[in-house]
Amino acid sequence: MGFVAMGFTEHSPLPFETYYALPQQREQEYMDETNRLTRKYADQIKLYRALEQDFIPGVTEDFSSVSERLQLAYSIGSVHLVKPESSDDLWFIDGPERQKYDDGLDQFFDGDIRNAVTQYYHQMNQMIESQVFDVVGHLDKIKMHNAGRFFNPEDSWVQHLVDETLDLIKEKSLIVEVNTRGIYKKRADSYFPDHSTLKKVHQLKIPIIISSDAHLPEELNLGFAEARQHLLEFGFTTTLFFEGYSWIELPL
Ligand SMILES: [Zn+2]
Repeated sequence: MGFVAMGFTEHSPLPFETYYALPQQREQEYMDETNRLTRKYADQIKLYRALEQDFIPGVTEDFSSVSERLQLAYSIGSVHLVKPESSDDLWFIDGPERQKYDDGLDQFFDGDIRNAVTQYYHQMNQMIESQVFDVVGHLDKIKMHNAGRFFNPEDSWVQHLVDETLDLIKEKSLIVEVNTRGIYKKRADSYFPDHSTLKKVHQLKIPIIISSDAHLPEELNLGFAEARQHLLEFGFTTTLFFEGYSWIELPL
């Protein structure tokens, strides 16, 4: 596919069973296999071991200890499970099942979408303020199963939440991931984050990377060319590139 570098970003281990996270007992296997591949393909492609770390306040392990234990090159920080303010429930906002999103909204937030979306962004803010990582993963994932039904992402209360999160991202010098997965999986009609947020990202001069969030080898480069074209139209001229010890700016 022409990649000169690639990072493996498995979902970080969680202290309960899921179908998607790396089980804690397989951490060593993940390290051994990524080490093996990095060495095997060293003369063809630069490979890195990273993680997409899940943040749930009071539940997930501190990102830094995970990064240290697994000797990660970098981390993506994401929210997939939203914890309501005053309970230990977890609202799964990702995955292929829309019904789960709808049920969680009803059960954990009494169907109050404004409260639920606010909680999502506040959890994201808490992650940005309290954890050490590099890239903010799929910033507005919360819109995916909404699909225009419960809230309009352009409403001022949503935009206000997005603005707060972007200000924090800027303050912490984090990178925003432009994630193409929602498009090629036909689960969203815009990137994560959507066009109006990307315009704000550009105005704030927050650096970006394009990511396919691939779960299969054949998904690795899906949507890259289109995303690059869109980003150029929005006025972006550069992207960041991980070169082993730091992120460098390269022409888009
Ligand atoms: Zn994710």
